[in-house]
Amino acid sequence: MRLSHYFIPTLKETPAEAQIASHRLMLRAGMIHQETSGIYTWLPMGLRVLEKIEKIICEEQDRIGCHRVLMPTIQPAELWKKSGRYEAYGKEMLRLTDRHEREMLYGPTNEEVITDVIAQFVKSYRALPLVLYQIQWKFRDEIRPRFGVMRGREFLMKDGYSFDLNVEAATETYKKIYESYLRTFRRMGLTAIPVRADTGAIGGNLSHEFQIVAPTGESTIFYDGKFDSLSAEEMTFDVASNLYAAADEMHKEDDCPISGSDLKTARGIEIGHIFYFGTKYSEPLGAKVTTPDGKSIPLEMGSYGIGVSRLVGAIIEASHDDKGIIWPEAVAPYKVGLINLKSGDAKADTLAEGLYTQMQNHGHEVLYDDRDERAGTKFADMDLIGLPWQVVVGNKTIESGTVEVKNRKTGDKQEIALDQVLKLLK
Ligand code: ATP
Ligand code: MG
Repeated sequence: MRLSHYFIPTLKETPAEAQIASHRLMLRAGMIHQETSGIYTWLPMGLRVLEKIEKIICEEQDRIGCHRVLMPTIQPAELWKKSGRYEAYGKEMLRLTDRHEREMLYGPTNEEVITDVIAQFVKSYRALPLVLYQIQWKFRDEIRPRFGVMRGREFLMKDGYSFDLNVEAATETYKKIYESYLRTFRRMGLTAIPVRADTGAIGGNLSHEFQIVAPTGESTIFYDGKFDSLSAEEMTFDVASNLYAAADEMHKEDDCPISGSDLKTARGIEIGHIFYFGTKYSEPLGAKVTTPDGKSIPLEMGSYGIGVSRLVGAIIEASHDDKGIIWPEAVAPYKVGLINLKSGDAKADTLAEGLYTQMQNHGHEVLYDDRDERAGTKFADMDLIGLPWQVVVGNKTIESGTVEVKNRKTGDKQEIALDQVLKLLK
């Protein structure tokens, strides 16, 4: 993509309304635009990151045999009356009336809809286990929308729903998804801590929140210091769920099995949340199957959420410096930023264009700064946008055929021959 023809409305000034780094940087890097409180337009750069995150989530869901669907954003109130949540949900739910005076709502979550689908189509234990998921916009009229996309009113969520014959099978499904969540977040460059969560209103007995440590997190988490030394391979359900980790509302100092310096305290951002809740929805909505011995029983269910749009902010909270964003390669909007310091110089333009084409031909996603701007502006914008690699075409390229390559994360710079660039990016 050529920066001269792109739509990245970057800001030089720090927007006054933004209190945390990710919100400031997303606005400054031209990723989002706020329409009204908690509601955003995703601009091209922001959307690319959102789509990278979605793709990783889908790959990991599909890997463990989940099936993607797409449910509507607008739901009939009737289903929620059956489950008993219509009144209980309160003011966070956006309620609508259609032209026939029928009560509708903009879905804050989808247990009712998916259970209704399953009630229609799944009649036998032979169809189980079954996990369906979607990536779809949700609306929750939060009391305090804030921190940009971190706590929006309209936000993108991956929500999955599991259906099993009995508690044992449902627990197996839960474990499988728990481990797959850890892998999903790791691929985005994040180390998530699975924290025991309150099963309160929803009931059931298994629930975890996936939290990442960041000073601007909204929750306080308490966890066993052993988490910090567990390798990715060691982070299985059996190991991790037996280590103590709880958010403030669940943590009771007197009952805590960890003491002294082994207990770590940090601020956490909740990026995912999983629940096992048994037959809470299958019973009222009539999602039943016949068992091998011919009985008819309600399905055992769980639900599994990931804050897709929140993750964009959370990743920036975990990875930035005072110059801007530092994208982990897996979710970066582009892999390489190509800077032509001498735009307008025929020789520099030819060399930069050649490199641009070559990198693209080798499958690299390149953002090419071909604008007629000062070097300082180009460097500052590229650091702000935060692509993993910067390749600079300048005087030395014209004189001796070398380019400067900078790693955004480490800051390391090296001067290499033009024909070595592709090898380095591999
Ligand atoms: P929170 O405690 O942050 O309000 P929640 O428990 O209400 O979260 P869930 O209903 O479990 O959230 O939703 C699944 C995921 O969706 C959360 O883990 C979070 O990452 C994300 N999420 C929830 N509310 C918002 C929001 N208002 N804006 C952006 N993401 C959200
Ligand atoms: Mg909430």
